Amino acid sequence: MGASGSVTEPRGHIAVIGAGIGGLGATLAMSRAGYRVTLIERDDTPLPNSVEAAFEWDRRGAPQVRHSHGYAARLHNILRSQFPDVLDELCKAGAVEHDLGAMLPDEVRRDIDELKVIAARRTTYEWVLRRAATRSPLVDLRVGVGVDGLLADTLSNAEVTHIIGVRLDDETSIEADAVIASTGPHSDLARWLEPHGVDIPEVVAKTGITYLTRFYRLQPGRSLPGGVLQTSSRRAGLSYSCVGADNGTFSITIAVESTDGELRRHLLAPGRFEAVCQMLPGIDTLTDEQDAYLASWAIGT
Ligand SMILES: Cc1cc2nc3c(=O)[nH]c(=O)nc-3n(C[C@H](O)[C@H](O)[C@H](O)COP(=O)(O)OP(=O)(O)OC[C@H]3O[C@@H](n4cnc5c(N)ncnc54)[C@H](O)[C@@H]3O)c2cc1C
Repeated sequence: MGASGSVTEPRGHIAVIGAGIGGLGATLAMSRAGYRVTLIERDDTPLPNSVEAAFEWDRRGAPQVRHSHGYAARLHNILRSQFPDVLDELCKAGAVEHDLGAMLPDEVRRDIDELKVIAARRTTYEWVLRRAATRSPLVDLRVGVGVDGLLADTLSNAEVTHIIGVRLDDETSIEADAVIASTGPHSDLARWLEPHGVDIPEVVAKTGITYLTRFYRLQPGRSLPGGVLQTSSRRAGLSYSCVGADNGTFSITIAVESTDGELRRHLLAPGRFEAVCQMLPGIDTLTDEQDAYLASWAIGT
């Protein structure tokens, strides 16, 4: 609403491709700056009705959502200063703020403004962010439809290619003043730009590691003795870490070399993941079923 009470016209129309972390963040920021946003997500996933339902979310377009996620302190700073309501909702949804600065010696801490991090499952963060981003009447979320190309302005003789919208895989299109592509690690952006004369050389490198992640929930009254990050270590050809999350959950990730199929198969056999964890310093007591029970697990590369 304007100062006179009249409805303010949107400042323009933005098409955002992908409702992962980047696309949701862009949608939140642009809609709050007064732009109309059409957010297009290929996964046919309506918003789940709770944090726990979000953990079962079908997010095949972003399979990393069920891997361990730690968040840089910068995220906390941005939420606190620009989107305090989202930080508040995240905490109400069970995320935990950890003050890493408080662990530092005084002489180092003096020069650091704020060093808090958020502990939350990636699905929890995405759920809160999607609710916050799509609440605005300026935002139109379209799920279950993918973008398969970009529209370019072919009439003007501009020296630069002017993208004016997106083509969808249901054979419709959406015109927009600007397009933000946040399509994740397997983005088609370079392929979409090519027919419009824009050549973006892409270098794709495989990490060579496979992540095996399992989530657990602490029994009531228990906490992770080491705080948000229990341990992160590399021993005997494997790296492992344990990251605290929301609502008493935590995840353990063991990263193995992708070529080591034997170790991967071994870790996937029933009970073996926990047996290996019980031999790894720092996480050796965390998978004892007396204390924590399995919530879910996932694999990714
Ligand atoms: C195993 C693993 C662990 C990670 N751990 C961390 C961590 O601890 N901390 C951290 O900060 N980061 C971590 N990351 C990185 C983090 O997950 C990514 O940086 C982040 O998800 C990128 O966000 P995004 O929005 O660009 O893409 P994504 O979150 O991947 O979302 C892309 C979205 O675009 C949609 N999409 C794709 N193509 C189309 C299309 N044509 N039309 C419509 N929709 C489309 C997909 O369905 C998806 O929803 C990890 C990544 C991996 C793989």
